[in-house]
This record gives sequence, C-alpha cells and structure tokens, in this order.
Amino acid sequence: MKTYSFLLNFGYVEDSGLGFTPFVSDKKFSSTKDAFIDLANFLKDAYVGEPKPKKACCIKAVFTGSKFCGACGKSTKEPEFDPKGFTSFVRQIDGASIDSYHGDIVDYDEEARWQTNLPKDLNEAKIIYNAEWCLAAAIGHSHRSEVTIEKIFKNHRKTNSFSFYG
Ligand SMILES: [Zn+2]
Repeated sequence: MKTYSFLLNFGYVEDSGLGFTPFVSDKKFSSTKDAFIDLANFLKDAYVGEPKPKKACCIKAVFTGSKFCGACGKSTKEPEFDPKGFTSFVRQIDGASIDSYHGDIVDYDEEARWQTNLPKDLNEAKIIYNAEWCLAAAIGHSHRSEVTIEKIFKNHRKTNSFSFYG
C-alpha cells in the first residue's frame, strides 16, 4: 500500500529545530501537494477544535441577525481564524513527546488519517523545512502572499525536500 509521509522540521536558520517529526498517511491522494494540504487541514482542525454548540438563546439571536445575544450578551459571530496562533500551535510539535502531542495537539486516535509513525520507506518521505509556515500556506494563510503552496511544491520532481524560504 502506498503511503504518504512527511518529515516536518520547524523554524528558520538558527531558530531551526534539530528534530524532524514524521507524519504518515495510508489515505489516497492525487499528489504530494494534496497530501500535504490534507495534513495542514488535519492540524488546522486540531487547532480550531470542535465547534462549540450554541446556546438556545444565542441561536435565536443568529436567526434574527443580531450581532449579540440579547439574553446572555455573547457575540453571534464565529471567531476568526488566527494564522499566527496556528503557526505557534503547530510549532509545539517540535520537541513534543507522544504524551504532550496527544495531550496538547491531537487527541489520541489510532484511526486518525495522519499518524506520527516513522515512514516505512525513509527514501519516500518528503522533508518539509520551515514547516509551520508551509502548513499555514497550505491552508491559504501564507504570511507572504507571494509564497503559495503551489510555489512551495513547484520543484516536486526535482527534490525530496520543500521549504517556505526556498
Ligand atoms: Zn445567548
């Protein structure tokens, strides 16, 4: 069975971590880029968390188009995605233990589509440098608009590694 595997390395120049964190998936993807975008969304879901069910009073406020709930005063707006918070969140993976990874980042789940196992074939693994910014770019929140996920993966056939800063 073909697996997709990435070795994530976080940071830039002297700030670069010395560790490489593996992510492996048995899921089918049409390309390495699509697999990486899926990993980024997997971690985005972990960052955003489960959407909290709204209270009955707030649901009423949403239906009437109010900005705030008249009963409890809560804002009816969905919280905006915070790209900087996301990069800090994924950066925690650098130096995490199995325990802190499953405690603070992703809930333990043997069925999850991305696992932190070592790839069976290390030669097939793609190395992702500056991983926090590559992951943010993969979900459309690049901190440099000219560096898109398409640009990062442009050299796909030539190299086994990718980086945000080239
Ligand atoms: Zn309310």
